[in-house]
Amino acid sequence: MFIVEQTTMIQLEGIEKELLKKLEQKDYSLGQLSLMSEKELAEDLEIEEELAALIIQKAQEQLGIHPYTAAEFLEIERRRGRITTGSEEFDSMLNGGIWTGEITELVGSFSSGKTQLCFQLCINVQLPKDLGGLEGKAFFIDTERTFSPQRIEEIASFRIKNTKKVLDNILVAPTSNTDIMLAYINQLEKIIPEENIKLVIIDSLAAHFRAEFIGKDRLVERQQKIMNLAEKLVEIAVDHDVAIVVTNQIIAAIDQFLYGSGEEPALGFAWAHRPQQRIFLRKSRGSARIARLFDSSRFPDREILFYVTEQGISDTSPASLEFY
Ligand code: ATP
Ligand code: MG
Repeated sequence: MFIVEQTTMIQLEGIEKELLKKLEQKDYSLGQLSLMSEKELAEDLEIEEELAALIIQKAQEQLGIHPYTAAEFLEIERRRGRITTGSEEFDSMLNGGIWTGEITELVGSFSSGKTQLCFQLCINVQLPKDLGGLEGKAFFIDTERTFSPQRIEEIASFRIKNTKKVLDNILVAPTSNTDIMLAYINQLEKIIPEENIKLVIIDSLAAHFRAEFIGKDRLVERQQKIMNLAEKLVEIAVDHDVAIVVTNQIIAAIDQFLYGSGEEPALGFAWAHRPQQRIFLRKSRGSARIARLFDSSRFPDREILFYVTEQGISDTSPASLEFY
């Protein structure tokens, strides 16, 4: 992202041509410019500090670095989309469903319903807005090789006539290691707008990291990779207004009190603070499952009951569904 590529008269309106040339020669990135002091830039370009301040301000504006009022923030939040989970109880716990513009993490042991919920969301994101969808496509990063088009078709068949179309609107990326997973994530910024993706799923985020970075020696490297990835995911969610749903495995708790049970999410502190919504899933009797929202910055901790049945995610077992 060099200023040479980015600078145009329109973008840096009010700055003379000759000065622009000087800036191009110096080859500053917008990021570098936005962090410079007026004095530093003025000296380097042999210009007045006032003019240097203007350049820095323009660079920051171009990068979108400026404070919002809380009211503006509220407006942005109001415009964000939500995808229904299929369970009204689950949706109400999250004030309307899975939100775009943020990361939602589903944590749980085997069979707790993580993957089933992901399948359901891949269908629901395609629904019309008045039915809880976003009329968009899903991108499914499958690190555990449990993606099942048959199961998605089965769930969809209880409510949707054209199940072939449902499958056409889900892009699947099977991955066998961290590098491939990261390569797909790097492609997202291009694919999301091209394909009208509204939901990105990583099922699971933990699998490759836990398999590849074994032992204390590699812990720092692993945590660094996770931190970079988390940052990238937050950026994608916000910049493209997509919902990012990530599943995570559980491990025996290191800190017994932190999560209120004997278990805690894998991936440690490098990851723990990044998802805006973290939900523990656990098995109950039969097809019943319990979802517990914890550590949310916006919603109270809460626990609800939902079901994973042949028809997918619902509030009852069997589900009472309407066809459309
Ligand atoms: P893991 O950590 O092993 O990936 P998970 O949380 O992703 O576990 P899921 O695949 O979401 O687990 O849930 C599996 C459960 O979903 C099964 O045990 C079963 O109860 C339910 N399930 C899966 N397929 C069907 C189906 N066709 N009909 C009814 N229930 C099903
Ligand atoms: Mg799974």
